[in-house]
Amino acid sequence: MPSNSVVIVGAGHAGVQAAASLREEGFDGEIVLLSAERDLPYQRPPLSKAFLKGEMDIHGLPLRAEALFREQRIDLRLGVRAVRIDRTSQRVELSDGSSVRYDHLILATGARQRRLDVPGVDLLGVFVLRDIADATAIRERLSRGLKVVIVGAGFIGLEIAATATGLGAEATVVEIARPMGRAVSPIMSDFFLSAHAAFGARFRLGVGVAAIKGRERAETVVLTDGEGLSADMVVVAVGVVAEDALARDAGLECANGVVVDEFLRTSDPAISAIGDCADFPNAALGFRTRLESVQNAVDQARCVAARLAGKPEPYDALAWFWSDQGDLKLLIAGLSHGVDTWVVRGDPATRAFSTFGFRAGKLAVVESVNRAGDHAAAKRIIGTTKTLTPKEAADPAFDLRALAKW
Ligand SMILES: Cc1cc2nc3c(=O)[nH]c(=O)nc-3n(C[C@H](O)[C@H](O)[C@H](O)COP(=O)(O)OP(=O)(O)OC[C@H]3O[C@@H](n4cnc5c(N)ncnc54)[C@H](O)[C@@H]3O)c2cc1C
Repeated sequence: MPSNSVVIVGAGHAGVQAAASLREEGFDGEIVLLSAERDLPYQRPPLSKAFLKGEMDIHGLPLRAEALFREQRIDLRLGVRAVRIDRTSQRVELSDGSSVRYDHLILATGARQRRLDVPGVDLLGVFVLRDIADATAIRERLSRGLKVVIVGAGFIGLEIAATATGLGAEATVVEIARPMGRAVSPIMSDFFLSAHAAFGARFRLGVGVAAIKGRERAETVVLTDGEGLSADMVVVAVGVVAEDALARDAGLECANGVVVDEFLRTSDPAISAIGDCADFPNAALGFRTRLESVQNAVDQARCVAARLAGKPEPYDALAWFWSDQGDLKLLIAGLSHGVDTWVVRGDPATRAFSTFGFRAGKLAVVESVNRAGDHAAAKRIIGTTKTLTPKEAADPAFDLRALAKW
């Protein structure tokens, strides 16, 4: 194996998996795993779901038991930030004043919440949700009767809305476009809009936020159409941006994140980038993208570990994602970009159905609500030579499982 020491910056889903997979692949050298956060590496998805609802405490969050890092000889350094990369000497300078040398460096720095650039966004009572501290702060305040304004109806905004209404809070969601508009079909977007209205959420669609007003803390969210929404609490969930400052400062090519090739190598072959921070050539779509999902973080980590173990393969894993909103479990296999035909399988009125999206006649994406079987089948059909027509997909009598198994 060519690299003797691998340094990984960021101990989220991608960084931790990269360290674990390197050992699984037989890498025997030094592994240093740097985390700017002080908590043992943890899962982010529950932060807007079970953890926010109070159904899971902090003990349910860790990605791996602490002992595992020791057993696997992974030098996990908590609360230590990488501040500069010296590519000439192949060293990373750390926030504690020390530095660490690498033969190979993996950037797994994730993403951070996009800032809502309006007056009043820094007032007390305005929150974002990315880490344990954010989730704890929101959870401590969410309560019956509280007026919560959620800015952004993406996955996280809607998961927060479902939790808030579930706890008896009065949630209003402000969204400039349509719910989950970037990620799902119009059919699914409309379905979730009605479902959230039934949970008790109110929506202001097609408007943005002009300002957040209040004396000491947020009291009113002023919309771009002039309406003022009274708020005890505001949660801003307007998406994330890649955490790529370290890479930019080191002169690595960056665009929508750290630019990597199909092997996830940056413009410096001694440095790879994976997970939410990586802008990679997406084989299924034929153009570059950056994905924000656990599947992508974990699969990219495995891909880099295999390459460093001498088994290079281009990254082309099927993208999949999940979101829990109230009693609705949304599972998505594939990506909806460029889909020209959508068909529905099952009946939305039963709250268990799927939408099948086709790009130039080929199945590209399946979105399933409370129908895990369709999702499992989709994962075995999309991107393969198996053929499925829109008519077959929409026909409840068509045996999807048989096609998937074949
Ligand atoms: C509330 C919430 C709910 C989510 N729900 C889902 C879901 O249901 N399904 C799903 O698939 N995905 C979900 N996601 C997205 C998913 O969590 C991310 O895609 C995933 O965490 C990406 O992993 P990552 O390792 O690339 O980045 P991250 O998990 O963000 O980890 C990056 C780590 O790097 C650290 N770091 C950054 N810079 C430095 C530095 N210079 N030095 C040291 N450390 C540094 C950061 O502090 C962070 O700990 C959710 C995300 C959030 C926030």
